[in-house]
Amino acid sequence: MPAYSLSVQLVLVIVFITSLSAIAWMLMATPLRVYRAASTRFAIGNVVMAAGFAISLFRTDDSSVTFWLINDLFLVAGFLYYRLATYQLFQMPNNGLFDKAAIVAIGLLLLCALMFSPSIEALSIGTTIICVTALTLTAMAKYRGLRNEMGLLPAVSFIFPAVVICTILVLKGLLIALYPDTAEIWFIRPQVDSEPLLWAYLVALVTANAASFGAALTKLILKIRKLAEHDQLTGLYNRRAIKLRLAQAYKLYKRSNVPFSVMLVDVDHFKRINDEYGHDAGDEAIKFVGQTMHDSLRETDIICRYGGEEFLILMSGSTRRDGIPAAEKLRINIASRPLHWNKHNIDLKVSIGCASIDDHDSIQSMLRAADNALYVAKSKGRNCVEPSIPASQEPIATSS
Ligand code: GH3
Ligand code: MG
Ligand code: MG
Repeated sequence: MPAYSLSVQLVLVIVFITSLSAIAWMLMATPLRVYRAASTRFAIGNVVMAAGFAISLFRTDDSSVTFWLINDLFLVAGFLYYRLATYQLFQMPNNGLFDKAAIVAIGLLLLCALMFSPSIEALSIGTTIICVTALTLTAMAKYRGLRNEMGLLPAVSFIFPAVVICTILVLKGLLIALYPDTAEIWFIRPQVDSEPLLWAYLVALVTANAASFGAALTKLILKIRKLAEHDQLTGLYNRRAIKLRLAQAYKLYKRSNVPFSVMLVDVDHFKRINDEYGHDAGDEAIKFVGQTMHDSLRETDIICRYGGEEFLILMSGSTRRDGIPAAEKLRINIASRPLHWNKHNIDLKVSIGCASIDDHDSIQSMLRAADNALYVAKSKGRNCVEPSIPASQEPIATSS
């Protein structure tokens, strides 16, 4: 077996790692259909990187400047694809200005290489500048995207690899420009690049792929969690989510005596809206009521779409005395804001049943009481708020 130098071995490892990453991203894009557009771009980026490093294995003492340039351009293209993928992953607006400028710069470099045969050092500096700019813009986009969705710490840790690669590339450019004699030791070799640079590439590519993979998976998990807890139509919490919140509130009530109240809200004569204006208008009305609730209640109140046109609101820290005025304010707000839909003004009214945990000994009993109160509100003519009967005053069922 021929003895390969450490540089060649490192290049082979890089080709292996980037090919493997390309396969992983392809799997994400095609069978799993996770962030398809972004995953495809990450896969292409890795394939192009792998090709760039594989080509460098064929560099010889006599390779022309054009060969060097083409080799470098593969790496630049790889970085540009990583950049496009990152923008896609975080749905950041990208007007493509930088990408167009980079293509023009690459074209000019190619032209220079063909016409004037500039030095390998000059070409290296040119491609390094393009790579550093692409990476800086990518890191900034990634930071903004992650900061918005996940907070400061994940944002900083996920962009760390890009910062490391940028630092290495800037150092490379500076060394080549200022100390061309040492460039050969550190970066430029007739055959594959020198070991320190290859180690840096290896670490950077592994961490960049791992960080992007981590970002994609974290985004996916957050999305799944959101879908599991929220109603699709209104974006409000669903039944499952409010049951969890109610259980937490009950624990707090038992441990620290922090009270809570609920209101069960049902839109009056909702079937008429569907019948008169159609199902789409009905959907809009449900969303509109949800939005009005959001605008009328406190930020700490948890609003849930409990069923079709029925909503359950959990008011932490509220006793029976606080719950009724809040429900009354909500009822008035909904009644005074008609929905403008397709040139129609649709009047919406709600009936509300209220209950407080301090009147009941379990969540089930409190919810049943709120439901009974809502039934009473409906039977009193609708568009009104009805407090529940405390469990202690409920008539005792007699068996006949
Ligand atoms: P009441 O005043 O007694 O509550 O009368 P109502 O007409 O509102 O009666 P009910 O609550 O029984 O009717 C609810 C209707 O809401 C029945 C169902 O067709 C409709 N509905 C449930 N979910 C949706 C939805 O997501 N979109 C639309 N458009 N309609 C829905
Ligand atoms: Mg109704
Ligand atoms: Mg109903």
